[in-house]
Amino acid sequence: MTEGVNPNKLTNPPKLPVDSLDSTKLNNKSRSGLEIAREPSFDSRGGEVINTATRNLQSADSKGPLTFDSSFDFPNLGKIEICKKMNNDGSVTFYLRNNIPIPVEVRFDLKVNNMPVPKTIIATPKKPGEKKEALTEAFTIRGNYSYKSVFSLGNPSNQHDNKTLYTLPFKKGQSYECSQGEHGKETHKDDNEFAIDFNMPEGTEFTAMRDGVVIAIKQDSNKGGKNIGAEYSNFIWILHNDGSIAKYVHMKHKGAKVKVGKEVKAGDVIGISGSTGRASGPHLHVQVDVPKGSKGSDLISIPFKDKNGKSMSIEEGKTYSN
Ligand SMILES: [Zn+2]
Repeated sequence: MTEGVNPNKLTNPPKLPVDSLDSTKLNNKSRSGLEIAREPSFDSRGGEVINTATRNLQSADSKGPLTFDSSFDFPNLGKIEICKKMNNDGSVTFYLRNNIPIPVEVRFDLKVNNMPVPKTIIATPKKPGEKKEALTEAFTIRGNYSYKSVFSLGNPSNQHDNKTLYTLPFKKGQSYECSQGEHGKETHKDDNEFAIDFNMPEGTEFTAMRDGVVIAIKQDSNKGGKNIGAEYSNFIWILHNDGSIAKYVHMKHKGAKVKVGKEVKAGDVIGISGSTGRASGPHLHVQVDVPKGSKGSDLISIPFKDKNGKSMSIEEGKTYSN
């Protein structure tokens, strides 16, 4: 979660009185962004219409009279922009333009005429592999305004589909030892607590554990070692259809065998293993996260399957065959 600040004001506020939004609708924190997005609602007291609807638009609509307001970059993934359109009646409609194939939860600490009207909007994800960004209409307001915005990857309602079992990340007929398991003493703590390391020589082709779409690749690093920062790790991220993301880390320099946007099946070769980033030696690190917006990220124990398709757990020090 990161914060971007963009206080903003209309230079010529309209003279019409500004409606006060129904605070029971907008200040109730138990309402998630998704619920707000579910149905349009209109507040027309005082002769003004303030649209608090959230709706997805065709990306073609993003061309035209939208003005850029602020943006936030998610490294290696893309960016999300807050745009606005001045309407003829003096109101302003805000939009979220998302070029990331993952939903982004945007929390607006919004004030209209100094009255807090917090809003949480889920920006529709872009279709993976397509260039066109997705556009979400956020809300329409009238009057002086200012806002702070917080951007978080994912949607709080995302849940991992626990019925799907994962294939070991290497080719059929091969065997590798698990050199660090879940809750491993070396580095598998905190955000990495359910990660698995396979002791795999540099140059080994590794494979997708589950069907999905490639959404991020870093392969420009050629640095690795015990004292090298994690930011030097090359990686491939694959998005699954339940919103979870598999991360394959320490890939060799220029080791990707796929491109962003490529649809892959479990078992497809996706890259060449290495030891880039913070690694005491060549190995493949895999983990699966479920980004849940402002609720953070669910980390899951990867439900692997054995050769016979049966569920199995992976233990440090044991060797597994595909
Ligand atoms: Zn690891």
